[in-house]
Amino acid sequence: MNQKPTNSLPIRIIEEKCTLCGICIDSCPVTAIIEEDGILVIDKTLCTLCGICVPICTEGAIIIESEKKITSKLEEYKDVWVFAEQKRGKVEPVVYELLGKGRELADKLNCNLSAVLLGFTIEEEAEKLIQKGSDTVILIDEPELANYLPEPYTKVLKELSLEYKPEIILAGSTTIGRSLFGRLAVSLSTGLTADCTELDIDKEDNKLIQTRPAFGGNIMATIITPNTRPQMATVRHKVMKELSLNKSRRGKVVRKNFSREILSSSTKFIEFVEDLSQQVKLTEADIIVSGGRGLGCPENFKLVQSLADVFCGAVGASRPVVDDGWIPFSHQVGQTGKTVSPKLYIAIGISGSVQHLAGMQSSEIIVAINKDSDAPIFKICDYGIVGDLFDIVPPLTKKLKEALKK
Ligand SMILES: Cc1cc2nc3c(=O)[nH]c(=O)nc-3n(C[C@H](O)[C@H](O)[C@H](O)COP(=O)(O)OP(=O)(O)OC[C@H]3O[C@@H](n4cnc5c(N)ncnc54)[C@H](O)[C@@H]3O)c2cc1C
Repeated sequence: MNQKPTNSLPIRIIEEKCTLCGICIDSCPVTAIIEEDGILVIDKTLCTLCGICVPICTEGAIIIESEKKITSKLEEYKDVWVFAEQKRGKVEPVVYELLGKGRELADKLNCNLSAVLLGFTIEEEAEKLIQKGSDTVILIDEPELANYLPEPYTKVLKELSLEYKPEIILAGSTTIGRSLFGRLAVSLSTGLTADCTELDIDKEDNKLIQTRPAFGGNIMATIITPNTRPQMATVRHKVMKELSLNKSRRGKVVRKNFSREILSSSTKFIEFVEDLSQQVKLTEADIIVSGGRGLGCPENFKLVQSLADVFCGAVGASRPVVDDGWIPFSHQVGQTGKTVSPKLYIAIGISGSVQHLAGMQSSEIIVAINKDSDAPIFKICDYGIVGDLFDIVPPLTKKLKEALKK
C-alpha cells in the first residue's frame, strides 16, 4: 500500500480559534484528532484528509490548505469551445445543445464560439455547426481521426488548446466525451466538472459557474475553476436547449494539420457495434414508458413494452431493475443512467427517488402509476394514477390501442 508523506498533510487546527468542544474528535472516522497537553492536534499518521471535520467545526478552526496552482496569465485565455463529437461522420445531437449554451456564454463574455471538429471527410458537417450558433469551426480532417481513439484525439485537442488558449471547453457527457475530457484535463493540468446541469458566467469575475448534482443527487454543487485554464465541463444530452437552424448564418472554417506522430495511436479502431437492445433510442424518443421494481419480476416488463409499443415509444427503467438484470443498462434513466426529456414520460411502479428524477424531471408531461399514494413520484408528476399497476396497465394499453386505431 502507498504511504503518504505524513508531515506534508496540509491540514491543521488553528489553536486560537479552537474552543476544545471536541465535536471534531467524535466526527473523525479514523480517530486522528486527539487532545494533547490541553490542545487538539491531528495525528497525521492516521488522518486520511477526508475533510469531514472541517465543516463540523463551527469555529472554523480546522483548515485544509489547498495548494494553489495558478496558470500563468489567465487573461490570455479567451473564447468558448465546443468539442463537436461525431460518430460515423455525423455530429452527435448533444453538440448542437452545447452550441446553444456556448452561444449564450460567449455572448456574455463578448467572445467567439468555436466548434472543434475532428474526423475524416466531415467537412459538410462544419456548415451546420455554424448555422447552429458557432462563429468558427476548427476542422481537423485526417483518416487517423475518422473514429474516436483516445490518444490522437487528446493530443490534437491539447495542441490546439495550447495554441489558441480557449477560456472554456465543453463536451457532451457521452462515453467519448467522458473518456476524452478526463485525459485532456489532466494533460492540460486543469479542472473538469462532469455532468453539469447548468452553466453560467459569474457577473463579478467572468468565471464559469458549473452546477451539478452531488452527494447522490441530494444537493446541487456550484463548482468553479479559479486558478487554471481552460475551464472544462461536460453536459449530458437533453439538458441544454439547442438553437434553431439559421441558414443565413456565416462563419469561418479553420483547417489545421498535425504530424503523424501526434495522430499516432497505440490502439486501433476495429468495428462499431451498435446496441440493438433498444428498438427506439431512449434519449431521442418523444414518448418513454419506464418500469421499476413495482413490476415484481422481469417477465412483467412486457406490460411496459406493450404500452410503449402503442405509442411507438421507448422503454426506460429504474436502476434496481437494471442492477438485477431484468433489462440492459442502456434503458436506465437517472443520475447514473440516461437523461431524457420526452414529451410524455410514464413511470410504472417507480417510487421517484432523487436519482431517478435527476434523469427525467424535465420531461414535458409526467404520468405516474403507483399503488402508494405517498410515493415521491406523485409530487412531480402532472397526472398520477394511484392503484395496482396490474389492474391499470393492461386495460389502459387495450383502450389506447383501440383509440389510436380509430
Ligand atoms: C449514487 C446513486 C445513483 C443512483 N442512480 C440511479 C439512477 O440513475 N436511476 C434510478 O432509477 N435509480 C438510481 N439510484 C437508485 C435510487 O436511489 C432508487 O433506489 C431507485 O430509483 C428506486 O427504484 P424503483 O423506484 O424502481 O424502486 P422502489 O424504490 O423500490 O419503488 C418501487 C415502487 O413501486 C411501487 N409498487 C410496488 N408494487 C406496485 C404495484 N403492484 N402497482 C403499482 N405500484 C407498485 C411501490 O409503491 C414503490 O413506490 C441511484 C442510487 C444511488 C445511491
